[in-house]
Amino acid sequence: MTCHICGSGTDSFRDEKSGILYYCCDGCEVIFKSPECYQSISEQKVRYDLHNNDENDEGYRAYFQRFLDFVLPHVENVGTALDFGCGRSTLLANILNSMNVSTDAYDPIYHPDIPYDSKKYDLILSTEVFEHLHDPKAVFGALVDRLHAGGYLAIQTQFHPVNAEAFKNWYYHKDPTHIVFFTPQTFKRLAVLHGCGYVADNGKNMVLLKKSEK
Ligand SMILES: [Zn+2]
Repeated sequence: MTCHICGSGTDSFRDEKSGILYYCCDGCEVIFKSPECYQSISEQKVRYDLHNNDENDEGYRAYFQRFLDFVLPHVENVGTALDFGCGRSTLLANILNSMNVSTDAYDPIYHPDIPYDSKKYDLILSTEVFEHLHDPKAVFGALVDRLHAGGYLAIQTQFHPVNAEAFKNWYYHKDPTHIVFFTPQTFKRLAVLHGCGYVADNGKNMVLLKKSEK
């Protein structure tokens, strides 16, 4: 199997408990499930409908605030933003709008109306989306295309343990809708492939990239 991110050859290992086969890339450190595990949008929606993200819930607000506390100190000149894959809630967009950042929210299931195809943004945020993507490289490229030169892409997804045994015991891949797992190394590779600079990560689950100024 060829790596979905960098095109190198991959190794594979099987989780004895679930029987699921995983492919891992030495070059970019991505790990992805064997494609027969991938679910259709309608199958995924059944699970997403169970997510109970109450917009008034203080914990949910605090969750987004932690992401913004990581992102905002690193960015400048952000007047427009897109929350890509917002789920049912537009809370993150609401928070940014209240900070005078004009923010759209898009989700393929719950908020499918994207403003217009050519609209570009200063900042695109995507929380807990990338682990669901069948083709993360293509989506990453499409999001970079939607940034102005010098714009920022901020992604939240749990970074996986690099050790294979630790990975098998890790909770995050047990969700059947989670199919691909990243480390900062994976995002460094994606950045190079798409003309972005690597700004920062938090060592755990948040990463920030900047599109080239030219
Ligand atoms: Zn790779």
